[in-house]
Amino acid sequence: MLGLDREERRALWSQVTDAIEGYIEGVPGLPVAPRLDRDALRAQLAPYDFQQPVRPDRALAFAVAGLTHDQVHTPHPRYFGLFNPAPATVGIAADALVAAINPQLAAWSHSPFAAEVESHVVRQIAARFGFDPTVADGTFTTGGAEANHTALLAALVSRFPSFAEEGVRSLPGPPVFYVSTEAHHSFVKAARLCGLGTQGVRAVPADDDLRLDVGALEAQITADRAAGGIPFLVVATGGTTGAGVVDPLPEIADVAARQGLWVHLDAAWGGAAVLVPELRGVLEGSARADSITFDAHKWLSVPMGAGLFLTRHADILGRTFRVQTGYMPKDAAGLPVVDPFAQSMQWSRRFIGLKVFLSLAAAGWDGYAATIRQMAAMGDLLRERLEGSGWPSLNRTPLPVVCFADGRSPRGREEAWLERVVRTVVASGRAWISTVRLAGRGAAIRACITNYATGPADVLALVEALDDARRSCA
Ligand SMILES: *Cc1c(COP(=O)(O)O)cnc(C)c1O
Repeated sequence: MLGLDREERRALWSQVTDAIEGYIEGVPGLPVAPRLDRDALRAQLAPYDFQQPVRPDRALAFAVAGLTHDQVHTPHPRYFGLFNPAPATVGIAADALVAAINPQLAAWSHSPFAAEVESHVVRQIAARFGFDPTVADGTFTTGGAEANHTALLAALVSRFPSFAEEGVRSLPGPPVFYVSTEAHHSFVKAARLCGLGTQGVRAVPADDDLRLDVGALEAQITADRAAGGIPFLVVATGGTTGAGVVDPLPEIADVAARQGLWVHLDAAWGGAAVLVPELRGVLEGSARADSITFDAHKWLSVPMGAGLFLTRHADILGRTFRVQTGYMPKDAAGLPVVDPFAQSMQWSRRFIGLKVFLSLAAAGWDGYAATIRQMAAMGDLLRERLEGSGWPSLNRTPLPVVCFADGRSPRGREEAWLERVVRTVVASGRAWISTVRLAGRGAAIRACITNYATGPADVLALVEALDDARRSCA
């Protein structure tokens, strides 16, 4: 039942490739967002009670139709959303191949090729951030949230020698760490998962440019020490999720050096700026970070999920995750290699790195630099056209995220008005955008260039859709 015969397989593969081709060709003509109707979806699913087998081609056609109609099309050139890319073509092929061969990345000896591809890519990307590739280490993760969780654990293990064996209760006071108010909320979850609780996270105020305020950071550290807390980590965000703003990394690293803190750079999206000569200054100081989060499934446009945790400390992942088992394969025990399961919070693990390796191999660093440069240029064009139409931007960043208010409405940036405008644009199917709240400046509309195929016509279409929405909501 589970393995099909050759004829059936061939028919299934060609159905899949036709569906993929049909989607890639057709997606620019689809409404970007669906109408949301849970009851209709449940009614469609009801016949699938799994009592009677359904022919694979029928079930597949059902899935293709559902994914085509009931889906925000993140690969659409007019999806201006949350860092979700149009997947690079060879990345799609890589993921299909990985599903078919199903390499197991827990033990090195089970998948030596896959394991070495991953550590090669880890070293190559670490070098782009300024780490010494002969010492740098890292692991592929499901995404940025897992990489940030890994960073928190690694910082705890590094700063507190008793942590790995005895846990938080072995510390003389509550460990606390620092993020800005604009940082990603995966750190809140990570704090809970590590036993610190939400109160272990200190949200440091942002300055007028939405960057972590370094003076406030140092004051908070001093206050926490006086109250018996134990500061151990500071997170700099390299491209905030809301506004694409980069925290002042060199100054943060100076504070951390004075205070003995681990520095983690969360560059899940913005990290790709290091690949472009004229943008890499934005992440100046990245080599001083102890660890870095970088998501290949964001600006490198590989299919989800492909995150990376990178560190310049060769031993820290092993000290954090190594365990002894009686059952894992020992075939590679005599080789100078480490098993991926001893470097990661995952155990059985998919070959995440292939889609990154093949995408990099096919595009090259220069290909990626050109793509990222083009996307930044589309962000500049968007900012300029919005300003020209009376939508003033509220964030300052060279990266292509524009947060803006409505300068022509008497209601300005009042949240309810902006929500209505965004709902109108999204309901029209012409583009996908969202609202965001920014510390100290309230609500804004947010539009991000996330697709390598988004061109000037798409940018102008978004501004037109916004202008129309403003008129029809008035
Ligand atoms: C997206 C993002 C994350 C979370 O990454 P996932 O891949 O969604 O888990 C973390 N930090 C920042 C700055 C992000 O933009």
